[in-house]
Amino acid sequence: MNSSAPPCQVEHIARDILMTEASKRFSGSQIADELVRRGALIKCDCGILFRDQPMYYLHKSQHNEKNPLACSNEKCNFVASDYKEFMVHFFKHK
Ligand SMILES: [Zn+2]
Ligand SMILES: [Zn+2]
Repeated sequence: MNSSAPPCQVEHIARDILMTEASKRFSGSQIADELVRRGALIKCDCGILFRDQPMYYLHKSQHNEKNPLACSNEKCNFVASDYKEFMVHFFKHK
């Protein structure tokens, strides 16, 4: 569980990308993609980014194993039509 980068390192890598590759004019999402490529962030299939693995696995458990768009809550049975709807759904469980 120690393989994810600590927050300070994530910021360092982000700054590194901004400084060295600013001329390429990365958009916010491109910087996120670059951080995922470098292993500083973990990206779920639904598009949510995580800094550490425990949070990622906690979130991942909310996806139904057979259908990532279905809620894993047994009493819920909600199936979203897309990932955006899926993410909005989880605010209702809080
Ligand atoms: Zn997800
Ligand atoms: Zn649900």
